[in-house]
Formats: sequence, structure tokens, C-alpha cells
Amino acid sequence: MSPAAINHIAVVVENLEAALRFWRDALDLPLARVEDNADEAVRIAFLPLGESEIELLEPSTPDSGIARYLAKRGPGMHHLCIEVTDLGAAMQRLVAHGAELINETPRIRPDGTRYAFIHPRSTGGVLLELYELSRQPGEQA
Ligand code: ZN
Repeated sequence: MSPAAINHIAVVVENLEAALRFWRDALDLPLARVEDNADEAVRIAFLPLGESEIELLEPSTPDSGIARYLAKRGPGMHHLCIEVTDLGAAMQRLVAHGAELINETPRIRPDGTRYAFIHPRSTGGVLLELYELSRQPGEQA
């Protein structure tokens, strides 16, 4: 039930192609894929790094949540995502410890991954995402 791994670190960028010139071309991380997430109105570049990934987030509409974040805070680290084996239990435990959840119930990605966000007010200023993978721990993604 304890967190198992860092799944990804997400960075908000103004322009994906410009950001890839650093993260892919200069730093030499592989670019696994680019995904259009219509629900969140964001384009996401996935760059695997060890067991984890760097995700670059570019808003795809001017009024999305990510676009508003970018306008207010500028580009930079957006959130940290940690894998847990039982998301419901982890959320219950956090609430019992007084943490503020952004999602009261788990949300589900198209690939079946259940996730929820924890408010930065509870974490020391970092937006925290919890993932419960549909695969079993130790199994390859
Ligand atoms: Zn994320």
C-alpha cells in the first residue's frame, strides 16, 4: 500500500517543439510518443527516463486548465506523480491525515489507469498525482 515508484514528473511548456529541442535533442532523452488529451485540452510528450517519465504538457486550447496555469504561473514543473497499489486506500489514508484532495473519487485515463490529484496546500507546495496502474506491481508496462 505504500507508494511504489515515481511514475512521472510533468513540466508545463509554452511550445512542445521548442521544449523538445532541450529535453530530446540536447539532453538526449528518447521521445516515446506525443498524445492529444482532449479531456484535459493538452498535448503531452512522453520521454522515458529509467523507470519513470518526463511529461511535457502544452495547452491545446487557450482556456484549458493548463493554459490558465501557464498564464498565471509561467512554464515550469507542474506536478509529481507517484504510483500506489491501492488508490482508494491511499486516498482514505490521506483524508484521515487531513490532506486535501482535488479529486474526491478516482478519475480514469483511457488506458484504464486510475488517478487522483492531491492539493499543493497539503504537500508543501507540490501538486501531487497518485496513479494506480492497471498492471500488477513488477509487471512490465
Ligand atoms: Zn500526470
